[in-house]
This record gives sequence, C-alpha cells and structure tokens, in this order.
Amino acid sequence: MKKQTIAIHTQFQHRDAYNALSMPVYHTAAYEFDNASDMADAFCGRSDLPDYSRVMNPTVTFFENKVKALTGATDVIAVNSGMAAISNTLMALAASGKNIVSSRHLFGNTYSLIAGSLLRFGIKPKLCDLTNVEAVEKAVDEQTCCIFLEIITNPQLEVADLKALCRIAHEKGIPVVADTTVIPFTEFNIHELGVDIEVVSSTKYLSGGATSIGGLIIDYGTCQGFCKRMRTEMLFNFGAYMTPHVAYMQTIGLETLDARYRVQSSNTLALARKLRTLPAIKSVNYVGLEDNPYHELAQQQFGPTAGAMMTIDLADQEACFNFINRLKLIRRATNLFDSKSLAIHPASTIFGNFTDRQRQSMDVLDTTIRLSIGLEDVDDLFEDIRQALS
Ligand SMILES: *Cc1c(COP(=O)(O)O)cnc(C)c1O
Repeated sequence: MKKQTIAIHTQFQHRDAYNALSMPVYHTAAYEFDNASDMADAFCGRSDLPDYSRVMNPTVTFFENKVKALTGATDVIAVNSGMAAISNTLMALAASGKNIVSSRHLFGNTYSLIAGSLLRFGIKPKLCDLTNVEAVEKAVDEQTCCIFLEIITNPQLEVADLKALCRIAHEKGIPVVADTTVIPFTEFNIHELGVDIEVVSSTKYLSGGATSIGGLIIDYGTCQGFCKRMRTEMLFNFGAYMTPHVAYMQTIGLETLDARYRVQSSNTLALARKLRTLPAIKSVNYVGLEDNPYHELAQQQFGPTAGAMMTIDLADQEACFNFINRLKLIRRATNLFDSKSLAIHPASTIFGNFTDRQRQSMDVLDTTIRLSIGLEDVDDLFEDIRQALS
C-alpha cells in the first residue's frame, strides 16, 4: 500500500469493545489484570498489555504504530514535545565525559540543551560546520557518542551531506541522530541515507492546525541497545511519554498530513518565486528554489519538496519590525507548519536572549524574517506581504 493509504488505515492493536472507528482516547492512568501471571507478563514486557500510562497507553501506541508503518522503523516512541524527543534521545546516548558533535546552526532550545543544560552533566558540545566533512572528521573522537543534526537548519536553511556524515559516524561505531521536523518523514526515507535515529517535533506538520505539542523518536534499529534503553529506562525514569488526548489529535493530524503538505509545500515554492519580484526584499531563501546552493543536495536526500519554511531578508531590523506590524493576514506567531501562515523575527524572539556574539556565531541575522506557509491562497499571501512592505 502507498503511504497515504497506510496513514488512513491502521489496524487497532486489539479489537475495540464497541467497534469504534476512531481509536478511542484511553484517558486512564492504570489498567486492571485478570490474574497475577498476566500482570507479571505485562510488567516484564512478555505481553503487549499496558500496565501504567507513563510508559504505555493504547491511544499512544496506535499513534506510534501509524508512524512505524509509515517509516518502516523498528520502534517509535511518542513523547510530549519535540524537545522531549531530542533531550531523551541524547540522554539515552550520552554519559558524563562523552561529547556530542553537532552544529551551531540549531533550533534555539536544542542549542541551549547541547551547549548548556547537558554541559552541567559533563556532556560536552563539539560544534562544527557539518557541511564541511573534514571538520566533522576532526571533531569526532573516542569520546563522541553521536552526531546530531537538523536536515534543513532553521533559520539558516543549511543542508549537510548525510551520507558523508553517516560514513564518518559508522566508521567510529557511533549513531547519527537527525531532526527531520522541517520536511515530513512521509516524503523521504532518512534511514536509506544512513541515519540511525530520527527525532521529530510532531507539534508542527503532524498536529495539523497547531492543536497540540508532541514529539517522536523514530528508531531504525541500527544503534545497539537504544530501543531497550528508551523503553525500559528513559520512559520509566524521565517520564516524558505522550498523553492520550494529544495522541488522538495527532493521529487525526497524521491522517490528513499528505493532503495538507502537498498544498503547503507547493504554496511555499510558488510564493518564494513571486516574492523575488519585490524590490524591498533583499533575498528570498528557500531550498526549493533552483538556484539555492543546497537545492540539488536537498532534492537528492529529501525528495522533490523542500518544506513550508522560507526566510526573507529586509534592509534592517526596523524594516523587519515594520513589516511584521503591518501584516494583516499572516499571523505574528512562533511555531511552524500550522495551516495558517506565520511570521516571526527570529533574532529578537527565539534567539532574543542570546548574546550578540552567540547570534553572530549562529548566523542569526537582524535582517531575517522567517515565514511558515499555510493552506491559504497564494495570491492572498502575496498581497499581504506586498502591502506590509509598502
Ligand atoms: C519546533 C522544533 C523543535 C522543538 O519542538 P517542540 O515540539 O516545540 O518541543 C525542535 N526542532 C525543530 C527543528 C523545531 O522546529
């Protein structure tokens, strides 16, 4: 079956008592057992029956199974935010004295996690230019526990050669973890490029209409012991498992993902092309544009679409603020890939509490506006941007 069919039709793990057509929301903390041996089997992982909703819940398992069917992964764990997916994954892989090789071009909180929070536990960041294979080769040492990267960095829109990075990592026997939030995992197969573990903020495309916060850890089974540690240690001790109501909403979101994404990605490309005709915009940055420096590599790795995020550069910060204040249709909001189009000035918001030097080292510019393109008509979006610039 094709992916869109799989996304719609997934078998329940067990027959529902009332033959519900949608997976019910099992809003329960615990589950009763018929006898002591069933109870022992569930607790020791010898059956698939849930015992406690911090570690297993039928509504969440159903959502995980849909993602598993769509990605071909060995295991999928749904957690309560994209950051929970990233922090739990890194804490499962790292230990005091180890280091993480990554980039300065990272989502703001991921940067503070790797360069700040984890440092307090003796895990060191080794940040280098991931588009420079020699720099990565030099950075990886005996204490490196993984390479962590984002497939298209936000807001710099940079793309690394994943096969080359995976080759370096696998020679050293360490996994590559990729944050694929910016293009849905239904569009390409990251494991074919060599990536071992995929993390996703399902708050974005999946939730559809920004209904809820969630994250996914997608394990392709090539990192020894990772799945076992996630299921038997991280979920139990760190307690970040997704809640059933969120899993219900994100399951519905996942069913319409393909239809929404087709419109959002084609809207973004059409709008990026049109915005180039506006002289007030100094540059339009979108990996889907043929003359973008990462266009070819992105197409090879992630398929024909390039996501629904672009950036534009205006003259200075004042021009950016004026532009944002004059928008009438596009919403002034953070978040990405909502059905509504969104605009934000990353330097003063997401990266607002970073020092000037940090922002400089991360290539976060005062002149950049980030746009997330929704499901509206492209002409209406263009008209809003045109009037906001004048
Ligand atoms: C939003 C985002 C995150 C964090 O996800 P939350 O669900 O907000 O915790 C991580 N990585 C990327 C690339 C994101 O866009």
